[in-house]
Amino acid sequence: MAYDMTYDPNNIFARILRGEIPCDKVYEDENCLAFNDIAPKAPVHVLVIPKGAYVNLDDFHAKASDAEIAALIRAVGTVAKLKDLPATGYRILSNNGEDAHQEVPHLHIHVIGKRDLGGMVGKPKG
Ligand code: AMP
Repeated sequence: MAYDMTYDPNNIFARILRGEIPCDKVYEDENCLAFNDIAPKAPVHVLVIPKGAYVNLDDFHAKASDAEIAALIRAVGTVAKLKDLPATGYRILSNNGEDAHQEVPHLHIHVIGKRDLGGMVGKPKG
């Protein structure tokens, strides 16, 4: 099934970016915002998002400027450093579309660490 790439301006991260609902901010710059995941899967679980309206990585790849793309990766690295993750290792991941069970349709990079994270990919549900 084709994934809907129409950006929903009322998705929860768009509302966080507009300041309509709060977030537990970790880092912010001109292009990106990073905040703690509301349901953390590890002692450190931060979401890094571009401020631009992008559904997922495919949308970002197609439409974002080189500056926005560089800024997102730099923000991920900055968050890892702020959370002291390079010393022990960490995982970054981005769920894109249906098979990846993406829940929030605004591109986000999970930055997860401070425990043994186990194998890379889980089993399918059911
Ligand atoms: P994904 O399945 O990759 O789309 O992940 C969405 C993530 O957003 C989940 O880990 C949720 O716990 C997280 N999340 C949803 N709502 C909020 C919120 N208001 N603040 C912070 N994290 C959120």
